[in-house]
Amino acid sequence: MDFDAIVVGSGISGGWVAKELCERGLKTLVLERGRDVQHRVDYLDFAPPWELPHRGLVPETEKAQHYAIQSTSHAFNSASSQWFVRDSEHPYSTPMDRPFSWIRGYQLGGRSITWGRQTYRMSDFDFKANRLDGHGIDWPIRYEDIQPWYDRVERFAGISGSNEGLEQLPDGQFLPPLALNCVELAFKQKTEADHPTRRVTVARCAHLTEPTPEHIALGRGPCQLRNVCERGCGYGGYFSSLSATLPAARKTGNLTVITDAIVERLDYDHAKQRVSGVRVIDAKTRQGRSYQARVVFVCASTLGTAQILLASRSEHFPTGLANRSDAVGRYLMDHVMGLGATGTHPGFLDRYYYGRRPAGFYLPRYVNLTERGNADFVRGFGFQGHSYRSSWGRGVSEPGVGAELKQRLRYPGRWEMTLIGFGEMLPRPDNRVTLGERTDRWGIPLLHIDCTHGENERRIAERGSRDAAAMLAAAGFENITSNGPIRPPGDAVHEMGTARMGLDPATSVLNRYNQAHDVSNLFITDGSCMTSTGTVNPSLTYMALSARAAHHAADLLGSGEI
Ligand SMILES: Cc1cc2nc3c(=O)[nH]c(=O)nc-3n(C[C@H](O)[C@H](O)[C@H](O)COP(=O)(O)OP(=O)(O)OC[C@H]3O[C@@H](n4cnc5c(N)ncnc54)[C@H](O)[C@@H]3O)c2cc1C
Ligand code: SF4
Repeated sequence: MDFDAIVVGSGISGGWVAKELCERGLKTLVLERGRDVQHRVDYLDFAPPWELPHRGLVPETEKAQHYAIQSTSHAFNSASSQWFVRDSEHPYSTPMDRPFSWIRGYQLGGRSITWGRQTYRMSDFDFKANRLDGHGIDWPIRYEDIQPWYDRVERFAGISGSNEGLEQLPDGQFLPPLALNCVELAFKQKTEADHPTRRVTVARCAHLTEPTPEHIALGRGPCQLRNVCERGCGYGGYFSSLSATLPAARKTGNLTVITDAIVERLDYDHAKQRVSGVRVIDAKTRQGRSYQARVVFVCASTLGTAQILLASRSEHFPTGLANRSDAVGRYLMDHVMGLGATGTHPGFLDRYYYGRRPAGFYLPRYVNLTERGNADFVRGFGFQGHSYRSSWGRGVSEPGVGAELKQRLRYPGRWEMTLIGFGEMLPRPDNRVTLGERTDRWGIPLLHIDCTHGENERRIAERGSRDAAAMLAAAGFENITSNGPIRPPGDAVHEMGTARMGLDPATSVLNRYNQAHDVSNLFITDGSCMTSTGTVNPSLTYMALSARAAHHAADLLGSGEI
């Protein structure tokens, strides 16, 4: 064996697995398909606007040439575009009438550099939902199984937030919260007074408002509230693989990282029922090689992992590795986007705020929390929101020159508020990825993604937009516009579900510890393991499941069971 463990992918889930395995004393190899990134050195976070290419904007011609229309997000600008995969260089296909946005980051650290850092725990409303309403299979775990691991990852990552005592949004191990501004506080008071089941709380986010000695020992410092996070943060003010998990893993002396190493497939030894090798293509030289380890974790992100499993066909797994259930590549989900609303407030004109803030507020799910439900759909949605005083009637971020622009800039603008909804998407077998006929420049089959929203998602989106508009109107907002219509899946960048966990090997790929039912030394802990989406941003759950699975694998290795 070359190593005790191999981890494929260095993003949020791979970083966590590497840290935990290294700290358990296992010699661990991380294989990353993208380039090496030096924390601090390779970021543009200290560049002033006038030093950025195109003053921070990405030219329309560049977008048109390299990025699918949907594949650009609020975090995409000329200082962060280096972290977004160009679709022109890494294509995939979809049916013409069913677009899917596959937003990727192929580099050391993956999308932990660009993520929005919103971090919420799933609750038993989520872990029990499939069993109760019959959509999808039952999760093999409950909140109590994952709760200590949420505690562990929150403490290490550093999550700021406020405890609220809500069953649908469990409390956590939080650093001091950020503050709500005056308009957000007024919205909170009005909404909670009108609707006793709705709560507006400060966003929970992976920012160090007050670093602990553990954070400082890793070279991380307090968040400076600069709001240039998507460029990468030299202070280590927010959690990423580069600021936190990989440095911790390196400290143990047990970590080896190889970048530009595209995992093409896993080899399977049927006699031992184990992965016997990880085949890699060098991204630069295109030469192939193979690595062996006692245990293999695939954390290449939901679709990247599906691609590797589907490509790992063998005599005993003709449709893809660990795919006896035929669930690999199926049940693809994302959160429903295109619900919510925006409005402007005529008041509070004598109030302002100082500085910036990397997150606003959260309004957790409030529908269908009773046994009988109270909506014409199952599951629910939550809102992220913030209020700010800038663009409405003001020249900030608007094109323009000369006296007219200067005049507009003098006016502080009205208060504006946005509620961005995230709805639950149901697991369906027909929402799936398969390998296409075409191959990429390394000879690896391209993914074909066929995924679409159904009637339940449409109803969630309609209700979410309606409720958001009504709450804004009740709180005195005007000029209210809906965020609808529903967006194609992929837009939330929360893709998940293509190698789901479950109790029954006939219907699921992974057991309750993220170990493949069919292959004892194979673990998968990225979003592909998710059995349902819940309504909250998922990455904190990937972190907790990753840490939990890594310790389980270390235990099994220790006892000689794998
Ligand atoms: C703009 C934006 C905002 C977001 N906001 C939030 C948020 O607020 N909260 C939240 O919870 N989530 C958010 N997300 C989603 C979050 O980034 C993902 O859920 C998370 O990064 C997934 O972790 P992962 O480890 O599965 O994948 P990634 O972080 O994508 O890492 C996967 C890694 O695997 C590598 N890889 C892929 N294929 C191979 C291969 N064949 N061989 C070797 N390596 C491979 C990739 O290069 C990458 O480094 C956001 C994402 C984006 C882009
Ligand atoms: S807001 Fe905080 S985390 Fe984001 S770039 Fe600034 S210092 Fe870093």
